[in-house]
Amino acid sequence: MSVNVLVDSEDRELLLQLLGKGREIAEKAGGEVCALLMGSGISGADELFRYGADKVYVVDDPKLEHFSLEPYRASALEAVEKASPGYILVGATKRGKELAARVAAALDTGCMTECVGLELDDEGRLRAERLTYGGSTISTQVSKKVPHIVTVPARVFEKIEDFPGSGEIVVLDVELPDAKVEILERREKSRGDWGLEEAPVIVSAGRGFKEQGDLRLLEELAGVLGAKMGCTRPIAADLGWMEEWIGISGRKVAPKLYVACGISGTIQHAAGIRDSQIIVSINNSETANIHEMSDFSLVGDIYTVLPALTKALKEKVG
Ligand SMILES: Cc1cc2nc3c(=O)[nH]c(=O)nc-3n(C[C@H](O)[C@H](O)[C@H](O)COP(=O)(O)OP(=O)(O)OC[C@H]3O[C@@H](n4cnc5c(N)ncnc54)[C@H](O)[C@@H]3O)c2cc1C
Repeated sequence: MSVNVLVDSEDRELLLQLLGKGREIAEKAGGEVCALLMGSGISGADELFRYGADKVYVVDDPKLEHFSLEPYRASALEAVEKASPGYILVGATKRGKELAARVAAALDTGCMTECVGLELDDEGRLRAERLTYGGSTISTQVSKKVPHIVTVPARVFEKIEDFPGSGEIVVLDVELPDAKVEILERREKSRGDWGLEEAPVIVSAGRGFKEQGDLRLLEELAGVLGAKMGCTRPIAADLGWMEEWIGISGRKVAPKLYVACGISGTIQHAAGIRDSQIIVSINNSETANIHEMSDFSLVGDIYTVLPALTKALKEKVG
């Protein structure tokens, strides 16, 4: 059985994290770690050796400037052919999830998605942990067919810094099919166009807010940070102060920064924010669950913290 590991993600940080896990798997299985870079005008392939790659496959073609399924799938399948991996780790981004599933279908194998734990079992199969029921339970699944394909969200695994390795860059010359969808126009979104799912910064309200009018404190903070406003379900569904909420029954978000204000951090809400890169919580209770999943916790009253924070940020921005 092939024991090489192939990793792919267009998100550089996530790719590095996957290389870290890929290294661990490859060392146990006795194979190589291969990274895949697809795009147009690719750079930085050689940097990946410092993060654990033995080989980097590059497909650089104008047809790959933007994601479209057919050319990307053809590129990925060519890399699979060349790297002959037993394990394929793909970043669980929107693009990664679509691509992983299509590649799995083309190879007639399975695909375990959104894995938050990965180990090799005694037979060299991938055993994955996946969150179920909104993150309240973890199910363990085993992939039975080779290559074992999984998608992994950001920040599940750690990247290796300064791996003392060097390796080979292999440029693949792939006959790429045209995309079946023609893109007629592309427009950059203005900040106001961002939906919650795409917003890089979200400030969010929970039941710590006593009156609808108090949400202006959040609006002011959102204004300074260029953030979108979100909330918990009671704020939207019960009180009707906002239209949509974040969580298992609402929107699932993945901003760079999520500021939770007066939110307790129940599993139903946590399920919608766990892909955020940095979570900051402001809560007057030291024991609120939200602190456990926060990178920065502020124990304090939103009615004093929010105006102070907004003022300080305004002064900093000038
Ligand atoms: C089937 C189902 C699906 C659900 N789906 C979702 C979902 O998708 N999303 C979701 O959010 N909820 C969902 N819920 C509801 C969920 O169970 C919780 O009720 C909800 O998340 C709690 O919202 P909250 O944190 O705003 O309120 P609370 O749990 O009441 O927390 C309020 C927090 O504010 C703090 N606080 C109070 N005053 C202040 C102050 N002055 N300053 C600072 N902090 C203060 C408190 O310490 C507390 O931690 C769902 C429930 C069910 C049954």
